[in-house]
Parts: sequence; C-alpha cells; structure tokens
Amino acid sequence: MKELDYFFPKTLEEALQIKNDLKGSIKVIAGGTDLVVHLKQDQVNEDKLLDVSRLEELKGVVDKGDTIYIGAGTTHTEILENTLIKDSVPILFDAIKSIGSPQIRNIGTIGGNIANASPAGDSIPALFVLLSKLHVKSVEGSREIPIEDFFLGPGKTALKENEIIMGVEFEKMKDNDIGFFRKVGQRKGTAISVVNAAVRLTKDSIPNKFSKAYVALGAVAPTVVRAKIVENALTSEILDSLDKIMYIARLVYREVSPITDVRGSLEYRRDVSINIVYEGIADLFLKGFRR
Ligand SMILES: Cc1cc2nc3c(=O)[nH]c(=O)nc-3n(C[C@H](O)[C@H](O)[C@H](O)COP(=O)(O)OP(=O)(O)OC[C@H]3O[C@@H](n4cnc5c(N)ncnc54)[C@H](O)[C@@H]3O)c2cc1C
Repeated sequence: MKELDYFFPKTLEEALQIKNDLKGSIKVIAGGTDLVVHLKQDQVNEDKLLDVSRLEELKGVVDKGDTIYIGAGTTHTEILENTLIKDSVPILFDAIKSIGSPQIRNIGTIGGNIANASPAGDSIPALFVLLSKLHVKSVEGSREIPIEDFFLGPGKTALKENEIIMGVEFEKMKDNDIGFFRKVGQRKGTAISVVNAAVRLTKDSIPNKFSKAYVALGAVAPTVVRAKIVENALTSEILDSLDKIMYIARLVYREVSPITDVRGSLEYRRDVSINIVYEGIADLFLKGFRR
C-alpha cells in the first residue's frame, strides 16, 4: 500500500477547505471499509485522505415530518438502532440490515455505501424507491442531487472534486405504502449481492390495485436501475393471482443488462432478478398486501 498524507479536520469548514485546496489528489475516508480494500489493491489514484469521521454535521437521523434525513457519516448500526427507520422506512431498514457483518455495520457509513457507487451497494435500491435526494456541499455552496442522477457508472458519481456528501433525504412510507428489499448473495451471511432489489407499492382503493410502483434493481447493470416497464405493469394490472405477478416479474428481463463475473453469470443474474421481484411481490400478495 502506498504512503498517504492523512487529514483529520475537526470542523466542516476546515474539511471543505482542504477538499477544495487539494481537489484531485485527496479522497474522503469515512469508515474505510470499502476504501481500505481499494487502497490495498492499489486502485486509488489520490495520495491524500480526508477523514470525515469527526464531523458532527455528518451524523444522525433527523425526523423532518414527511421526510427523514440521514447524515452521510451515520453508521449502519446507528441507522438500524433508530426506531424511526424501522417504523417509517422498513425497506431501507431491511437493506441496511443485510449489509456485511455487525463489525462492518459498526464502522461502515451510509454515505460511504452511496459514494462508493458499487452497482451492488445494498442501500442504493432502497434509496431509489424512496426517491431520495443527496445533499452535497463544497466551499462554493450546497446542492441536492436526485439519487437517480448521482451514479454515472461503477465507482463514478456526479460529485464534483471539491464536494462531499452531507446526507440523504427521502420520503417516509405512508400507511398505504408496502414493499420490500431482497438480496441474493453467494451464501447466507456476509456476502456482496449477486442481485438485490427494492420495491415500493402505493395501494389504491381497489383491492389488489396500486396507484404507484417503484422498482429498483442492483448488480444487474453498471449502476442501480429503475425497472420502469415493470413499474408501469404493476400500476396498470390488478395483482390478483400469482400467474399475473409472474407475468409482470418476467418483464424485468427487458430492463437489466447484467455481466458475468466471479459472483455469477449473466444468465444466472437475469433469472435471479426475475425471481427476486416475483418472490417479493408474491410474498406481499400471499399476506393480503398488508404491511
Ligand atoms: C467484509 C465486507 C463486507 C461487506 N458487505 C457489504 C454488503 O453486504 N453490502 C454492501 O452494500 N456493502 C458491503 N460492504 C461494503 C462497505 O462496507 C459499505 O459500502 C460501507 O457502507 C462503506 O462505508 P464506509 O464508511 O466504510 O466508506 P469508506 O470506505 O470510508 O468510503 C467508501 C467511498 O465513499 C467515499 N465517501 C465516504 N464518505 C463520503 C462522503 N461523506 N462524501 C463523499 N465521499 C464519501 C470515499 O471517498 C470512498 O470512495 C462490505 C465490505 C466489506 C469489507
């Protein structure tokens, strides 16, 4: 591993100034669970690290009424311990719960999971279906980026060189919202997703009918993708049989472009992405679409 200069600012202002002054040669480090792996594999061009773990502005879960804001530096464990997340956004709760091991969740942060921009990052499909916005900041000011516009490719994001992620904000699920996060790994327990998926459905007044549907899949394309053909089918059909649900789930086939890698072949990933959507919705159906 190469030698690195380490910056450990105490204030946000100091951190943003350093990020601006050294842009291009400095990389943010939060929990380090992804970055240290990349450093060990010599995959990092920058030779300086900006440790943001002391910045209070990046920490915590905030109830903002209809929305929830999570600071980028909040660890997965801190998020899981917050009852607001379990009660108001169970899809995100289940996604975060599936990440790594307790040790990884104790130090890994939601900001790191997002900024790492892995197509298999488990928080990302959940944040997609919650229509999340990222709050980012630099010495020049703040801006919000819809999560769908943030990812440009594996490891590539719309973040400018002098910006850091401050946090992520999303809608709370309403009483008539149901959904799920599911992931298939190579084994049970700590495993990077071969495919993951999040679905959010808003119930209509007609039984088995939905007025809104959001479906996001990970590890099936260079970035997490929304499956809009599936979403349209979910809102135009009445989901009154498992056959109908399977018919809709098969449309996933038209929306994914997976690759073959060490974790799974293209064909396997395509089949798994259909099954994961089918099984999740079928499970909701068999429970009478109750939350
Ligand atoms: C054994 C193991 C198992 C794992 N299992 C899973 C899993 O099941 N699911 C999963 O999704 N991930 C998994 N991971 C990946 C990892 O733990 C998570 O992605 C974690 O959330 C990253 O957070 P971090 O704070 O450690 O990020 P870091 O490693 O510190 O940073 C990751 C990237 O984000 C950038 N970054 C971090 N914070 C900010 C910020 N505020 N602003 C701008 N850029 C920022 C860094 O520059 C870096 O590029 C696993 C990792 C390991 C080692």
